[in-house]
Amino acid sequence: MSDEVEVLVELLRDVLGHEKQHYESKGQISFDCPVCADEKGLDEGDGKGNLEINYSKHVYKCWSCGETYGTQGPLGRLFDKHATKAQKKVYNLIKPEELKQQDAKKPKLKLPEGYTTFEDSNPRFIPHIEAYRYLQSRGITDEIIKKYKIGYTVTGDFAYRIIVPSFNKEGTLNYFVARAWVSKKMKYKNPAVTKDEIIFNEGLIDWSKDVYLVEGAFDGFFLENSIVMLGKKMSKLLFETLYNNAKGNVIICTDGDAWKDGLKLYHELNGGVLYNKIKIVRLPMDQDICELRGQIDEYYYEIK
Ligand SMILES: [Zn+2]
Repeated sequence: MSDEVEVLVELLRDVLGHEKQHYESKGQISFDCPVCADEKGLDEGDGKGNLEINYSKHVYKCWSCGETYGTQGPLGRLFDKHATKAQKKVYNLIKPEELKQQDAKKPKLKLPEGYTTFEDSNPRFIPHIEAYRYLQSRGITDEIIKKYKIGYTVTGDFAYRIIVPSFNKEGTLNYFVARAWVSKKMKYKNPAVTKDEIIFNEGLIDWSKDVYLVEGAFDGFFLENSIVMLGKKMSKLLFETLYNNAKGNVIICTDGDAWKDGLKLYHELNGGVLYNKIKIVRLPMDQDICELRGQIDEYYYEIK
């Protein structure tokens, strides 16, 4: 083994415990999967060694939960999820140059050209008035505008759209929603980032409290501690993050026309550490959280 491989194997042992199998010639090593162990409520590994790492290719996969919980991909992701800060630093030092360059190549997401907050824009500017009026018509208050840094733009690809930015835990922009306030073919236009790889406004989520799962950014404004799924289905990343972090109840609040999606999600989530913590509301067919201004008390639905 080269020095670097030796350091990497030691590092993996630090993070994952003792290996189950190790084929040096192939650069393969297997460990108990921490996600699987968590799923079974175990503090230690489940003894199955399903987590396979190829350290010459810098990839990993759990043969049991890889598909379900996204426990697979570049090794850096495994470290991001399960390693300490110090361990991550060591990995970054030994990570091959090509992989570092791939990371650097990813263009950083920027807010759309011309984005301005309402505070920073002239209240007599016609688009400002129109955009603001649109927000008011949907029940969005000044307080919400401020809290979510809602703005708008009149130039570039996202012209004449309300912009709702999303920031990660570190406060870095990771997504934005752009909603037209004038009638346009496309009501929403998304940035060139895969929405499955981010959690919308993750920095605002308090995992120690009840969380509300909603479809759209505009729904999220009306429930304290909401999580926006950016659709009717949940990404693997969100599923895993929710599963590992949610300490309170999880209330599913999909749109009225998505009752079936909501139910499906209910059954997917209601297991393991989340068992009995999942609640669901059944909204009237043509209503969503935004239209109801978050008034959902009467729509809780008991699943038997
Ligand atoms: Zn697993």
